[in-house]
This record gives sequence, C-alpha cells and structure tokens, in this order.
Amino acid sequence: MNIKMDLSEILLYFELFEKEKKRRPWLNELNMMLYFLEDYDQVEVFHNKLQEEFYNLLQNRFISGSLIYFIEDYEVCIKLKEKVLNKKSKRFKYKMMFEHQILLSKTKEQAIKIIKEAKDFEVEFEEEWTENYDSLELIRERQKKWRKKINIEESKGFPELYEDFIRMKSNYFESLSLQQIKGALLNQQQLTVDSGRKMAQTSAFTRSVYIKEFARRVSNGICQLCEKEAPFLDKQGTPFLEVHHIHYLSKGGTDTINNVVALCPNCHRKIHQLELEEDFKKISIRASENMLE
Ligand SMILES: [Zn+2]
Ligand SMILES: [Zn+2]
Repeated sequence: MNIKMDLSEILLYFELFEKEKKRRPWLNELNMMLYFLEDYDQVEVFHNKLQEEFYNLLQNRFISGSLIYFIEDYEVCIKLKEKVLNKKSKRFKYKMMFEHQILLSKTKEQAIKIIKEAKDFEVEFEEEWTENYDSLELIRERQKKWRKKINIEESKGFPELYEDFIRMKSNYFESLSLQQIKGALLNQQQLTVDSGRKMAQTSAFTRSVYIKEFARRVSNGICQLCEKEAPFLDKQGTPFLEVHHIHYLSKGGTDTINNVVALCPNCHRKIHQLELEEDFKKISIRASENMLE
C-alpha cells in the first residue's frame, strides 16, 4: 500500500477524526500525522492546529520531543525550549532540548552557557559536551535516524489508521457537492486575503486537499489529456486519476483550481517526461473550462 499524506490531508484527518470518533486523536494517531510532516514550517502549522484543539499540548512529552527533530535553527530551538521548559515542567527534564541547543550553538562560550543553564533544570552534561557545539551535521543524522525509526508500513496500526482516513475522506467529499467544494475554497481564499502571512500559509495548506478533490470531481473520471476513462477504480470505487499542477508548484505555480487538471497515470508521466507544448496548451484550456463547472 502506498501510504502518503500531505499536510492538507493531515489537517482534514484531524477534523474528520474528531467529528466521527467524538474524541481527540491518541498518541499513535498523532504520531502518524507527525510522521508525514516535511519541514519546520509544516510542523508549525500542525502545531498551531494542535494548540487550537488541545490545551497545554507543549507540555506533552511526545509532541515537544518530536518537534525538536525538525529544528535546524538556533533561535527557533530556544523558542521551543522556552515554551516547553518553564519551571513547572521541570520534572520532565528535557535533556534533548538542551542537547539540541548546544549542538546548534556557534561558539564554545554559548555551549558552556547552555550547559550551566541546564543545571537549573537538573539536567547534567558531561565535560565533552563543550566540544559538541556547531554540529548541524550531527543533528541531521539524528533527524534521519528518528524518521527511520518509524517504518510506516510496519508501524503498528499505521496502515489501518491510514485506510480509515481514506474512508473518512471519501465519505466526506461524497457528502459535498461540487459547489460546496468551490464554496469551501472561496471561503478559505477570503480568509487568506483578510489576514496576514501566517494565516495565508495555513490556509494554503488547508486548501490543497479541496483543490485536488475539485480537479478529480470536474474530470468525471475522464483523463483531461487523452480523454480516456481512468484505468481503474480505487478501493473506494472512485476512478483513479492523479492531480497535476500545470505550472509546477516547485517553480512558483499556484495551488489553485485554475492550475490543476486530473490525468491518468500514463499521461501524467508523459507530461513530466516530455513537457510538450501542445499538451501544456491542451491542459491549460481544460483547466479554464474546469473553472466554469
Ligand atoms: Zn490520459
Ligand atoms: Zn504532475
């Protein structure tokens, strides 16, 4: 099984989860969501979402322990550490937080200072930690190890949780009309316009799962390049098509409904492999037609 989720799906998972199960996700469920995050920006969005839902989550050993693995910046590290390590949470002795900060320090003096500060929290470091500063490489190694520790296919319950999400997602979108999907997108766009960068970022993440659904929905199961039927139905019985961004996101293309089409896997590969002008023109026209649906 190909288990993959982007942040937008994770945020949707969160919402659908609470609605259906009438409880907050447990640690293994959160763990799975966290696993798919790609960088600290995403972590922050995820984290903000958690804070909206959970009080005092930062005190939670799991979440702060995992967040630290995404940090490569000294200032960000201090900020997280300060949130986590107030005197009240002293008993947790987050040694990891201090280690991380030492490894991100740029001078020996800075490292020594942190080691002294750690003592106030009853965290002891051996002498040699004074030599460990400025080791981003070491941090990256640890991050890699941490990610490897979780094998998504084998982790207990992950495939089941994932399937459960796919089912919830498919039921949810089935319950929405195309106009409602467009409406949701419009709403989110309005939010983006009305507020600052942070909101725009969050909203962009939230939106993307709706945009994919929009593209699939307007395609009616027909590839928008070769105009043949999708090659097979997925487990939920929906025609399998992939969503393609006409102007690549990696090159500044936007995640908006005028920039996506639904393609069969064959055409999707062809477009990326050959990048033919005629294909590009055709799908651009299709995308503008999609908008009128
Ligand atoms: Zn096709
Ligand atoms: Zn593509």
